[in-house]
Amino acid sequence: MTVSTPPTLPPKIHPLVRAFLDAPGAVADALARFGSPAHLVFPQVFAENLGHFRDVLDEQGTGYRICYAHKVNQSRAFVRTAERAGIGIDVASAAELASAVDAGFATDRIEVTGPKGEAFLRALVGTGVTVNADNLWEVRRLAELADAPVPLLLRLSGFPATPVSRFGVPLWQAEEALALLAAHRDRITFRGFAFHIDSGEPAERLRAVEACLALTERAYACGLVPTVLNIGGGFRQVFTSDADAFDRYVVALRAGLLGRGEALTWGGNTFGFHLDGGAVHGTPVFHKYANTVPATRMLTDLLGAELEQHGGRAMARLAAENLLDIWLEPGKALVDHAGITAARVEFVKDVAADTTLVNLDVSRDTVTPADQEVMVDPVLLPGGDVPDTDHGDAPVGVFLAGRLCLERDLITNHKVWLPRRPRPGDVIVFPNTGAYHMDLSAANASMHPRPPKLAVAQRGDGFRVCRDEEYEPVAAAGSREA
Ligand SMILES: *Cc1c(COP(=O)(O)O)cnc(C)c1O
Repeated sequence: MTVSTPPTLPPKIHPLVRAFLDAPGAVADALARFGSPAHLVFPQVFAENLGHFRDVLDEQGTGYRICYAHKVNQSRAFVRTAERAGIGIDVASAAELASAVDAGFATDRIEVTGPKGEAFLRALVGTGVTVNADNLWEVRRLAELADAPVPLLLRLSGFPATPVSRFGVPLWQAEEALALLAAHRDRITFRGFAFHIDSGEPAERLRAVEACLALTERAYACGLVPTVLNIGGGFRQVFTSDADAFDRYVVALRAGLLGRGEALTWGGNTFGFHLDGGAVHGTPVFHKYANTVPATRMLTDLLGAELEQHGGRAMARLAAENLLDIWLEPGKALVDHAGITAARVEFVKDVAADTTLVNLDVSRDTVTPADQEVMVDPVLLPGGDVPDTDHGDAPVGVFLAGRLCLERDLITNHKVWLPRRPRPGDVIVFPNTGAYHMDLSAANASMHPRPPKLAVAQRGDGFRVCRDEEYEPVAAAGSREA
């Protein structure tokens, strides 16, 4: 069945990335030189995202520090760009710490987050990195191990009306934490409270801010001198260029699940929706693709939010009045639109009426965390030189399949409309894979090597592509960061 107006999921694509995709032969040359599939990162887009964050923060008149959350991508080019730009970095493992140091970060610009364990804690003592403590065991252990004061932030969790978290010190332990920090002032330099909430819900962050400010007051009363309020990351990405089209696709998908219209899903996949009494309920696994609020708007709104418990004063102003620098740990927001993944079409196979599989030389975990679903259309670039006289060049709905051998290992479990039927040798580009998609769950399944990671830079009116680890940013301007 052909649909008159195929439901599409138009991706947002950064102009620099678009220019690269449109440059004749640019993607094909990169794949010819370095192999297919490949991840491509765009450090200049990272730098631009960072600039937007700084613009928001510079307007507030507060001291601040941006710590790039390294775990979002293993790219050295991004880490080098962050280092050159003069920001901080948030690392969550010994290997990420080594990567940051290797890229030139002085230890006083490095913050270590996440649960740490004995060996890692021992390695951190005496280095000068700021330890963002996950729990009271870490605080006690650092006090035992330290010869000289260890700079420390205390991550809090368990805020009112917020689900229990596996990370951070629950609020009900805060008094115990303060007593511990006060008792070990000679071994621990307490810098302030921290949180990280992965939620698009502004009220949740505000409750966390209020709790941290209240505890900052308590800390003063205990003789401690906090100077930082760390609001973590979790600032959202925008994947879609057309929110209405996205909504239309999801409506069609839901209708298909109920048998009212063409089925758009492979093999009974329901994407986390549940069907009940002729209706579709629940939040789909791909809900992040529906977001239309840019990260900088989230940040602006948070900094400007009026806090009831503090006479309606704006959050950033309160921080400034309390002589607190605002620290933040954006990951995905800094790499938003700064990465793509390119793969080649191997063959196209019709498995049933209306069901066409386009087989690519990648596996699902190369382009998405396996429990999610890529809900923006990939870009089809010509590469196959044999015109397909059998099928013509009309739009076609297909499923993208990949390298793995399990039935469920399709790359897309929803039907993707492409402008024409792909041919062997064509290139399929997945937009915006820089945040968590490339590296978070990627494995060497079936002994396929991990794809190379390449850095793309616009230089003059052309592009230069090199291996990610060889990329060097051009010098960046300074800022007012703490
Ligand atoms: C993962 C993580 C971040 C980054 O989160 P994003 O959602 O990518 O911004 C920041 N801080 C901590 C503690 C994290 O674990």
